Amino acid sequence: MRFHEGDLVGVLTTEPLGRPLDYKAPEGGCFAGDLVEVPLGPRRVLGCVWGPGEGGFDPARVRSVSRVLDAEPLRDEMRAFLQRAADYTLTPLPAMLRLATRAPDLGAGPATRRVLRATGREPDRQTDARARVMDALDVFDGAAVTLAELCAESGVSSAVVKGLVKAGVLAEEDAPRDLPYPRLNPDLPSKDLSDTQLAAANTLRANMDGYGTTLLKGVTGSGKTEVYLEAVAECLRQGRQALVLLPEIALTAGFLERVEARFGARPAEWHSGVTSTERRRLWRMVSQGEAQLVVGARSALFLPFRELGLIVVDEEHDTSYKQEEGVLYNARDMAVLRASICGARVVLASATPSLETWVNADLGRYARIDLGARFGTAELPEMRAIDMRAERLPGDRWISETLARAVEARIAAGEQSLLFLNRRGYAPVTVCRACGHQIGCDDCDARMVEHRFLKRLVCHQCGATKPVPTACPSCQVEGRLAPVGPGVERLAEEVAARFPDARVSVLSSDLFGSARALKEAIATIAEGGADIIIGTQIVAKGHNFPLLTLVGVIDADLGLQGSDLRAAERTFQLMRQVAGRAGRAEKPGIALLQTHQPEHPVIRAILSGDEEDFWRAEATERRMAGVPPYGRMAGIVLSHPDVAQVFDFAAELARRDGPLRAIGAQVFGPAPAPIARVRGRHRVRLLVKADKGTPFQQAVANWVAQLKPPTNLRLAIDIDPQSFL
Ligand code: ADP
Ligand code: ZN
Repeated sequence: MRFHEGDLVGVLTTEPLGRPLDYKAPEGGCFAGDLVEVPLGPRRVLGCVWGPGEGGFDPARVRSVSRVLDAEPLRDEMRAFLQRAADYTLTPLPAMLRLATRAPDLGAGPATRRVLRATGREPDRQTDARARVMDALDVFDGAAVTLAELCAESGVSSAVVKGLVKAGVLAEEDAPRDLPYPRLNPDLPSKDLSDTQLAAANTLRANMDGYGTTLLKGVTGSGKTEVYLEAVAECLRQGRQALVLLPEIALTAGFLERVEARFGARPAEWHSGVTSTERRRLWRMVSQGEAQLVVGARSALFLPFRELGLIVVDEEHDTSYKQEEGVLYNARDMAVLRASICGARVVLASATPSLETWVNADLGRYARIDLGARFGTAELPEMRAIDMRAERLPGDRWISETLARAVEARIAAGEQSLLFLNRRGYAPVTVCRACGHQIGCDDCDARMVEHRFLKRLVCHQCGATKPVPTACPSCQVEGRLAPVGPGVERLAEEVAARFPDARVSVLSSDLFGSARALKEAIATIAEGGADIIIGTQIVAKGHNFPLLTLVGVIDADLGLQGSDLRAAERTFQLMRQVAGRAGRAEKPGIALLQTHQPEHPVIRAILSGDEEDFWRAEATERRMAGVPPYGRMAGIVLSHPDVAQVFDFAAELARRDGPLRAIGAQVFGPAPAPIARVRGRHRVRLLVKADKGTPFQQAVANWVAQLKPPTNLRLAIDIDPQSFL
């Protein structure tokens, strides 16, 4: 849609104003989708021409668009996607536009910039600060880096970097901005695929036209990645762009190498660790169709692809695809939405799909491809329970004799063991033996977790820390505070005492200063640099440790507490993912689950390996309860510093449920949110439940709009919440 100079256009800005505002098209006119700069009060802000203006204002007072930016316009399908995603998640449209324009200097900036590179000369004088700069250069791995980026990464002042330039260690030069990415070649040979893999790849390749979603289900190590890379290859051959979403993208060096091996060059990367210069380059290249393949975190879904042909969501069940702050969306669902609008294919890959996806495949909404066995000689680990009631461990030990003997056998054989405990820190609770007081966070309803490595107590909710006190904050008695329960750091102590000669590596996200350090630790383990690995759930994700043959789950019951209907699904997924780390090479693996309730249906399902049975049972339970994916749900979290105010408001909202009753929906609550206080704000939750096929979002929006919240009350609407409590 073309607008001539002076025509009224509606411009959506990234400011929180709700709807597009009227402006006059600038000299030379503009098009729908153009990114523009418009005056707003005394400022100039970024906007997008959304369509014709509404009119109805004094024409003399309507201001003109300042300029059209030198950037690709947002295409019709992108604008439609943002609109539908906003409607679905009940998010104001400007917040969606912000997600889609998260790159600096769009349409501005000089064609070149000053960058630094290492000359190869050694500094005459080495200092700590200088070493940090050189370390930081490594992180950029040969990519052009500006003074500001280098200072930010290394944490040194610009004087240090300039000193290195003077000393001839670094050289300054002008480099063009926004270099194109190296071309990927889809016609390089793939690995020799097995028959099953080939059949799966062929099915994906043969169905690349128009929208469609496929669940690619296969045990860990069955070659899902190899298979979906063939779909990527087909997409690139057709001259279209592909997007692969990965959880924990910062740890995925291995994946980038596999892409390079398959296509001869690295893909573009998009995640929070990417510099702003790179973000700008990627945004522009994607919009011009010059980036063929993007590997990214969930926010990559909002990049302005010119011709998107395929979205792969790897580990589609992963909870990190749900954004829990700001705009609340599930990247898996938004990927399907985006693909259905622009006519792209979606591949959802997982060994343990989410129940939502399993049901969609069961109902025939998604196609489904199964890769039954592991590739080559690798076999799925055997899984067994260790009945902890029979083991009679003292209260401060967590490794049963049965598990310890299995670990010893692995050490003797030169193989690795993984002890899995999904709890960071030393001990989850610090209790006073004199009065029973448990140390909590001052601002949250959460207990403080002792971290010996940091020598502090940490709130896992808000991140607040304090020193471990010597006296009880409640009864003031000295020296009676004691840790209760295990975290990975405490487990490491037990391991050191039990296996004094073993080389132990603890993998917990908080024990590493940077993603790079963690990546290095993972690489060292993969090369055999540890006998025993102790890890939280970061080890469950995708790493390949060929020498690992034993997985010991310290507390398989951990996730089953509480009454959330999702607990079973989560535990099932996590246990099977962790167990999948074992026996990925020639040697078979075994997983031992320490449990106090070996007869629990979920534990039995995990052990039996009959996954379809498990999902069918879960699906039935959800259907009876009328919860997703068989019903609709929204969580409303209200928060305010004053507990009475937030409860009163929530209760009033719950009373005025007319718009909800109109569609047969019910509201539950108010109840304290699962964490009732965070950062000094009291949190209250309402849950709305409805049947499928009703205008759910509209009803929720109308309902909430009835009441004007008091100042300082925050209200967040979470459509399809992760927790059903
Ligand atoms: P998944 O994604 O299902 O966990 P991967 O694709 O990562 O499985 O494959 C597991 C391992 O097996 C990887 O190291 C991969 O390179 C290897 N592999 C899988 N299929 C083949 C094949 N056809 N030829 C050679 N190696 C393969
Ligand atoms: Zn806190």
